[in-house]
Amino acid sequence: MRILQVSAEIFPLLKTGGLADIAGALPDALNGAGCEVRGVLPGFPAICAGLSQTSSVGQFTMPWGEVIHVVYGMLSDVSVGDGSFGVYVLMAPNLYDRPGNPYEGPDRQAYGDNHRRFAALGYAAAQLAWGLDSRWRPQLVHSHDWHAALAPAFLALAHDRPRVPSVFTVHNLAYQGVFGGGCFGDLGLPPQAFSVGGLEYFGNVSFMKAGLSYADRITTVSPTYAREIQTAEQGCGLDGLLRQRAVHLSGILNAVDAAVWSPTTDSLIPHRFDPRNMTGKALNKASLQVQCGLHVEADAPLFAMVSRLTDQKGLSLLLGAVDEIVAPGGQLLVLGSGDPYFEEAFSRVAQEHPGKVAVRLGYDESFAHQVFAGSDVTLVPSRYEPCGLTQMYGLKYGSLPLVRRVGGLADTVIDTDLETLDNRSANGFVFDRFDETDFRRAVRRAFGLYHRPAEWNRVRQTGMRSAFDWKDSALRYFHLYQELIPK
Ligand code: ADP
Repeated sequence: MRILQVSAEIFPLLKTGGLADIAGALPDALNGAGCEVRGVLPGFPAICAGLSQTSSVGQFTMPWGEVIHVVYGMLSDVSVGDGSFGVYVLMAPNLYDRPGNPYEGPDRQAYGDNHRRFAALGYAAAQLAWGLDSRWRPQLVHSHDWHAALAPAFLALAHDRPRVPSVFTVHNLAYQGVFGGGCFGDLGLPPQAFSVGGLEYFGNVSFMKAGLSYADRITTVSPTYAREIQTAEQGCGLDGLLRQRAVHLSGILNAVDAAVWSPTTDSLIPHRFDPRNMTGKALNKASLQVQCGLHVEADAPLFAMVSRLTDQKGLSLLLGAVDEIVAPGGQLLVLGSGDPYFEEAFSRVAQEHPGKVAVRLGYDESFAHQVFAGSDVTLVPSRYEPCGLTQMYGLKYGSLPLVRRVGGLADTVIDTDLETLDNRSANGFVFDRFDETDFRRAVRRAFGLYHRPAEWNRVRQTGMRSAFDWKDSALRYFHLYQELIPK
């Protein structure tokens, strides 16, 4: 089964969030399930720098006259089984060779021509499906998030081309790629696409809506989020469309790339450990406390958060309840970057509680591993969470997740109570309502368990043995592809 994966990011070359982790891990897992996966990516500087053995594939012209060359090469850094992953890359320096992250400049403003930059990505995927590379033609196109969401539209609307099926995966419905209606002419889609049944959204162009309207199947990254986005509360204005498409919508849980996230083999942490020997975990905690200027206290429960600093992640709850952690002798460590308001607020809290609260602003992949390896509790009190990866990394590294019961957090964390302790399914702490009272109560329950070391250890063991294996999720995608690809 030849599958073309379309994404804007890929771990480890270019990552702003969970999307990159999935784009980096899924191809290998799918190959293991019997697929032959190639990727298509924009030629961002970080992607071009990781590309080797390149050969020219062909070119196409976008409606605004720009000619885009496509090369094929190997991304040798990607953590796939045989150490390389074949990708098509759009060589368009005018569009992609810019400072900042893939979507915005150093001033944190979205690039004004993002509709062009990502229309080209979708169009390239369609061109490849129609035979741009005469040696390899995908049987199905799998696009991720709004950046890749025009691919299903091009494929579905081109009646003079062979019909290639598409799957569209929503990693976060809140980011939709909405642009003024005047941009439509740049996209190269037939006029009927600019309609309520297409990608038109209150007079604007919505890339997300294009993916949701035209993909043959829609998936999202957890079963609970698949249900939640069909409600007005979490549908981000697209719940009606999602309800219409409910029979074609399913949730496939993300997993953990064991080649990258395993405390037994992780070269980014000072001391390796496993469920049978947790000495390394204690040493990692001490080393983390030293590094961050926290008091080196083995008995102080260390609560940690590794996150984009955006409102979605429930940071207001944490900011309002820091005393609930520090007053009884706990410590807090935040690794994150994002909204300047939260960056300043957490920096202030750290200054107010020297030795007890530490904040590291910025994006630091290697330090993130050390945080999971050294902390006791991983906080994910999100307002909404399509899947969430950090709670799963926390589980694998013996840092019990404390999460809100929402999206993928609800699907992966089992609250600790007498029943779940007894049947050994407990693996963390879960609270329901997005309010400070519920959050504080969950923090107090974490302290309660921490003061019972034997039970704490038992819950931690359950967490560390969680599977979250890509094999299971890849098999689900495989079956989905099988349904769509003509025999
Ligand atoms: P989202 O995709 O919404 O940001 P996820 O939990 O799905 O949230 O994925 C976040 C990913 O980004 C995880 O791999 C997490 O470890 C990583 N991450 C987030 N912030 C940072 C940071 N400041 N430094 C290093 N890694 C980070």
